[in-house]
Amino acid sequence: MLLSRRLFGTNGIRGVANKELTPEMAAAIGSAVGTFFKRGNLIVGHDARTSGPMLANAVISGLNATGCNVLFAGMAPTPALQYAVKNHRTNGAVIITASHNPPEYNGIKVVWNDGIELSREQEIEIENIFFDEKVHYAEWNEIGALQTISGIIDEYVDAIKKHIDVAKIASKHFHVVVDAANSVAALAIPKLLRELGCKVTTINANIDGTFPGRLPEPRPENLKDLSLTVRAIGADLGVAFDGDADRSIFVDETGEVHWGDKTFALVEKYFLKNHPGEKIVSPVSSSTLVKDIADAYGGEIVWTKVGSVTVSQTMKKLNAKLGGEENGGIFYGPHQSVRDGGMAAALILNLMAEANEKLSKMLNELPKYFIEKGKVECSNDLKEKVLEKLTEEMKGLNISTIDGVKVWFEDKSSILVRPSGTEPIYRLYAEAKTAEKAKKLVQEYGSKLERIIDSLKSQRA
Ligand code: MG
Repeated sequence: MLLSRRLFGTNGIRGVANKELTPEMAAAIGSAVGTFFKRGNLIVGHDARTSGPMLANAVISGLNATGCNVLFAGMAPTPALQYAVKNHRTNGAVIITASHNPPEYNGIKVVWNDGIELSREQEIEIENIFFDEKVHYAEWNEIGALQTISGIIDEYVDAIKKHIDVAKIASKHFHVVVDAANSVAALAIPKLLRELGCKVTTINANIDGTFPGRLPEPRPENLKDLSLTVRAIGADLGVAFDGDADRSIFVDETGEVHWGDKTFALVEKYFLKNHPGEKIVSPVSSSTLVKDIADAYGGEIVWTKVGSVTVSQTMKKLNAKLGGEENGGIFYGPHQSVRDGGMAAALILNLMAEANEKLSKMLNELPKYFIEKGKVECSNDLKEKVLEKLTEEMKGLNISTIDGVKVWFEDKSSILVRPSGTEPIYRLYAEAKTAEKAKKLVQEYGSKLERIIDSLKSQRA
């Protein structure tokens, strides 16, 4: 099924189970990963997908065959498995998850000994082993061992609690609704919140790999039940997770769903109040709100390319303690520099306890922006040239070309024009202080793009 020499996408290897991702394929990937690690000890775990145990067993076979010892942790949240790598000092982990993708998908994510996903350079090494058939099988008496480990979720919950004021949160007796997406969040989050003294009501907390409650992506349109439940029972907070519980989206006590960069900005505000001068790492696709907060509270914003692995690697390189994405990924370095839904929920409760304010009030006090999105068709072979031309036309403006091109204007509006990695299109994301201005920016830059694409096409013809 694979036409190129590429296995890894922006977040691991992904495919439909038993179509692209068969047990044979998973075992072959396991052997390539095992060869890359040159033996050593690796944690393996999976999310709640129906294909999880099947693919995990295949990957374990491949790893053992190349002499890697496997510590099998079973079903667990991705951040709990990442934390276990550090805590158990293993050489890395292989996590079977397709995160927020629909139920028929699954994926293989490979983690280094710091708990962070491999760099692109490391992934290329694995791809070369895989495609050049350079797998190194162990002799019969050096085949790796398989051991089952338990307790990693308790260890993960205990680790999160070290970074917050448990007594203060407990004194508030918060009532929280958890939407676990029928997946691994159900194994850790209700336990964590109860240990923080919260009253917990759960929805979609029965583990079911067909995701009967809602799709595993925590988008506002999938969170109506959560929103209604929070309002109906008068809870203080609602929180929804994606399929592997590394991302979390929050609902305030009025039932309003808030997108990730808004809750991240609130976490950032309280973090900077207590740690002024720190660096804040965020992809260039995030709202200007994130920079407003950094400016107001003495932080320094570092923009990165879009993608959680880039945020983690940048945090590590700069020794930054906080990172966040618009999709609900929050990275808290003192715990671990990877996105972590449980840590994010604990940080939100911590700031609610510290502020002694309703969440809706705190979120609505943040600077407001209107968002408009658009797309323009563009064949893949033209994408690079188009970006070059567009960037040339923007000379003199306040731009960043770290990922596509982003322009920030004097009136606080901005637009990001970015080629899609998977489809023959350019995506446009505008943000402004009025809805009209955001719309106008998408139209203006959409036309610019079309004009450039047309002229390049006619040059070619
Ligand atoms: Mg995820």
